[in-house]
Amino acid sequence: MKKVMAVNCGSSSVKFKLYEMPEETVICSGIVERIGHDDAIFTIKYEDKKDTVIIPVKDHAVAVENVLNALIEKSIIKSLDDIKAVGHRVVQGGAYFDKSEPWNDDTYSKVESLIPLAPLHNKAHLVGYNAFKKVLPNVPQIAVFDTAFHQSMDAEDYTFPIPYEYTEKYQIRRYGAHGTSHKYLSQEGRKYLENPENDRMIICHLGSGASITATRHGKCVATSMGLTPLGGIMMNTRTGDMDPSVFYQIQAMTGKGYEEIFQEMNKKSGLLGVSGISNDSRDVENAAKNGDPRAILAIKLWARRIADYIGQYYVRLGGCDLIIFSAGIGENSSEFREAAIKNIEEALNVRLDEEANKNTNRGKEGIISLPSSKIKIVVIPTDEEVMIARDAYDICLK
Ligand code: AMP
Repeated sequence: MKKVMAVNCGSSSVKFKLYEMPEETVICSGIVERIGHDDAIFTIKYEDKKDTVIIPVKDHAVAVENVLNALIEKSIIKSLDDIKAVGHRVVQGGAYFDKSEPWNDDTYSKVESLIPLAPLHNKAHLVGYNAFKKVLPNVPQIAVFDTAFHQSMDAEDYTFPIPYEYTEKYQIRRYGAHGTSHKYLSQEGRKYLENPENDRMIICHLGSGASITATRHGKCVATSMGLTPLGGIMMNTRTGDMDPSVFYQIQAMTGKGYEEIFQEMNKKSGLLGVSGISNDSRDVENAAKNGDPRAILAIKLWARRIADYIGQYYVRLGGCDLIIFSAGIGENSSEFREAAIKNIEEALNVRLDEEANKNTNRGKEGIISLPSSKIKIVVIPTDEEVMIARDAYDICLK
């Protein structure tokens, strides 16, 4: 039994989960938020306890020191030597990485060179890696890329129809995101297949960021997010795909700069932008129940964009054997799932089991389609952290 830590470093946070491997037992988990402030929040969950303290945390290295000290103080580990490997989530791996890799000088410089494609995320991952290296200098670390699973796409699925020099010179193309989640779900989904040979899946990762992926034989065939997470389906605050001239027209009519409009499309659009109510699907759902017309429109629009992608991927795969719903909205909102499924019911001959749909929430897994449905529809809670821990164990310790 060996302890492995799965880590997700953001610009002002470090999220962690400590596993006993290869059993995949979660020993503890937690988060340090508001890094860089005197009142950072450190929460740690272990056994049945949850401790939260407000402490000054000047940078990521101090955050990591606090986490490791807490593990010893709370007798979760005996010494730092108990931690045998650390796996980091890395948002953008570009075309360099089609699988997880050990952190070394080459990995570091490639992740660094991709900062322009994911400025906040990749920068934070490097800071996180350095912080762990400082505190645990002899422990092997690996990078698990959100984009790696999507590297199996064909050129016609990842190339944008722009002047080709941009594709070649600047690597402007579709990379996708949430790859670790889509990979996990494609593996978990296999148990619902009647014939393992017919394994065409459409996987809907519907969190505050959301993407849909088509998979066959466990590999990504197509995915909805693009160069950045702004592309694809409509999200909580992001537009998803649109006529690109909307950007030009808003600029021409309002005089706003491209940076401001880009931020609006990332942070003020989607469910929030259309409803004008909230970036949380639960608030929009409640407003729609109370008859708010823009909340109703926002949900209809969201559902239709999802149906568009499911239809597109049904064609791309030449059929579909399993549709999976996952992440915050996909795992918890019967209403949002129902709205999306109603849009594909007739064309794809799917039948929702309304009772099962209502009862499959909050971490529950199961089938939500009727036996008469042409395609089986399931809800599977995603688990990106366990994938990170598995790769860290396989690469460093097996
Ligand atoms: P995620 O990014 O996967 O954590 O998803 C977060 C989003 O899921 C929130 O912003 C909500 O819009 C949505 N959501 C809906 N129901 C729930 C729920 N019961 N718990 C958490 N998130 C929910």
